[in-house]
Amino acid sequence: MRIPLIAGNWKMNGSLALIEDFGNAFSRTSFLSNAIDIAVIPPFLYLANADEAFEGTPVQIGAQTLYGEASGAFTGAVSASMLKEFGVHYVLVGHSERRTLFKEDDAAILAQARAAIDEGIVPILCVGETLEERDENRFDDVVLGQLDAVMKGLSEEQRRQLVVAYEPVWAIGTGRTATPEQAQEVHASLRARLRHYDENLADNMRLLYGGSMKPANAQELLSQADIDGGLIGGASLKPDDFIAICHAAG
Ligand code: PEP
Repeated sequence: MRIPLIAGNWKMNGSLALIEDFGNAFSRTSFLSNAIDIAVIPPFLYLANADEAFEGTPVQIGAQTLYGEASGAFTGAVSASMLKEFGVHYVLVGHSERRTLFKEDDAAILAQARAAIDEGIVPILCVGETLEERDENRFDDVVLGQLDAVMKGLSEEQRRQLVVAYEPVWAIGTGRTATPEQAQEVHASLRARLRHYDENLADNMRLLYGGSMKPANAQELLSQADIDGGLIGGASLKPDDFIAICHAAG
């Protein structure tokens, strides 16, 4: 019912050589293209190269962020229509590194999600609690609050375009992974919250897990009832690891 999505967030890593390595690795791999969706999310500058290198494979490209305005005097920013011109299919919004290092708040994240949807790009909304918030047992409130902040600002039609990624901040890039039970618990809460909006939407929306997912733990995480894919950081930089995770999902 929900097609798994495996998305690799390269962050500020990679090179033309790595794009080529991935292009070659994907071309050699037999994917059941209708069984899973796959995305590679490199830095902006490499999007065109990635699109070309992955041609003929089922892998689609995504961007790591965008700006919520259509055009104008916003030095350094990139709009949804520009991403669309480069064949971008997905865009991350609300990644914890953007929330903390670049001070993006819920209003900015909502504007980004809307701008993406208006251009037919799928926003992957990242939500997640810090270690302190988990220790204080506030993770549900934090994560559901981040979800509501975007859901409430979207129309019914717009909501249907969204993918959500639960990424506990304490598990990102730390080598610490949420246990499958911890991840499933939050995913189940997210899905229950989505039911307040629309039963059908809740059944169909893809909820990804992100936070030190790797070949060794992917299968167990991905087999949880409400985990519909993964957002992968570190392990998405190695073709063999990333492809192994894709196979675990398919
Ligand atoms: C991420 O930042 O989206 C992420 C999940 O990173 P990592 O897999 O390295 O924890």
